[in-house]
Amino acid sequence: MTHATSQPCGEFMPSPRLLLGPGPSLVHPRVLRAMAAPLLGHLDPAFLQLMNEIQTMLRSVFRTDNRFTIALSGTGSAGMEALLVNLVEPGDAVIVGVNGVFGSRMATVVERCGGTPIRLEAPWGRIIEPDDVKAALARSGPVKAVALVHAETSTGAWQPLEPIGALCREYGALFIVDAVTSLAGLPLKVDAWGIDACYSGTQKCLSCPPGLAPLTLNERALAAIRRRATACRSWYLDLSLIADYWEEGTRAYHHTAPISMLYGLREALRLVAEEGLEARFARHRLHSQALGAGLEALGLRPFAQEGHRLPSLTCATLPAGLDDAAVRTALLQRFQIEIGGGLGPLRGRVWRIGLMGESAQRSHVLTLLAALEELALEQGGPAQPGTALAAAARVYAGCGEPAPSTRTSGEREKACS
Ligand SMILES: *Cc1c(COP(=O)(O)O)cnc(C)c1O
Repeated sequence: MTHATSQPCGEFMPSPRLLLGPGPSLVHPRVLRAMAAPLLGHLDPAFLQLMNEIQTMLRSVFRTDNRFTIALSGTGSAGMEALLVNLVEPGDAVIVGVNGVFGSRMATVVERCGGTPIRLEAPWGRIIEPDDVKAALARSGPVKAVALVHAETSTGAWQPLEPIGALCREYGALFIVDAVTSLAGLPLKVDAWGIDACYSGTQKCLSCPPGLAPLTLNERALAAIRRRATACRSWYLDLSLIADYWEEGTRAYHHTAPISMLYGLREALRLVAEEGLEARFARHRLHSQALGAGLEALGLRPFAQEGHRLPSLTCATLPAGLDDAAVRTALLQRFQIEIGGGLGPLRGRVWRIGLMGESAQRSHVLTLLAALEELALEQGGPAQPGTALAAAARVYAGCGEPAPSTRTSGEREKACS
């Protein structure tokens, strides 16, 4: 065995990419700058103050008063695992909506926690019908929880949540929601919708690098944790231990907080607050409409069920003759644009284009459509030059909102920026 001669590597400085895949999304320079601030110790009073600020801002994006609202160390999947390993005890049954990769992952994690997932399935691209949740609750006997994915990133389906919270209460079950691709990108009201426990990730609509999982639990969920007969099977993700670090007055060491990540999240949350949630949701809607119009002009069809398509993630079926791998490779190499391919059974059949947070901007939509148009034409696709851009431009001209003529031009400009 010989070891490679140890020439030091050069500085790693990749050329910027236009990140329009299923995550990570683009990050605002202010977030990157915040992450370069000097390190503090994780028990430094200045850092504890930053944690309080993050909690306050997270409560407002989750639309909750839950005291237990934190940013967990780890990515979105750590948030999923943390909620399930704390709430699900061995032997517990959990109804899990499975209509894509992430619902399926939740069912797997329930099993790993010693629970029994009751898989409530729908075809990929379709939502889990609230009536089917009701029927499942009625026939299943007592279940610990119902777990649903708000924004199924593998299919682009937008799951309705509003009716489910009341059903869960009626049947004495907790309501657990995956909001990884929805938080700060589309409406989510944890308290008003009766969601007991909810998790997200930082690298989707919050536009922060991956590494933290914002999560929130209400009193009902915390009581279920306190009632556990056995200790949580995970030490690292044990929320009762983690609570002692986030709780003002206690602040007991559990594990070292990822300091710089939390700096970044604080700045990302400040950007969300400056924009305002409603304006941010409207921006996601507008740009996804323009993208959808442009893709249709190129012969791509929306994959998810009509009326339930996510603004943050567009999943589109490729037309025959368009070579998935060749186009995505050319997009990355020639144009530095990343989009996502299909997962599992959708591999080679769909593209997944994310317009999340900073990525949801007119210039990015137009850049992507122009590049796709060029590549589709090279492949002998059906597009006439300019059709995709023209279709997007028509959406922007009307801003995709009803009755733009009733607004002043100043208002229109604002909505279209
Ligand atoms: C991305 C994603 C996850 C997993 O998050 P990671 O940060 O990749 O661990 C979970 N659920 C949904 C819906 C996602 O889109």
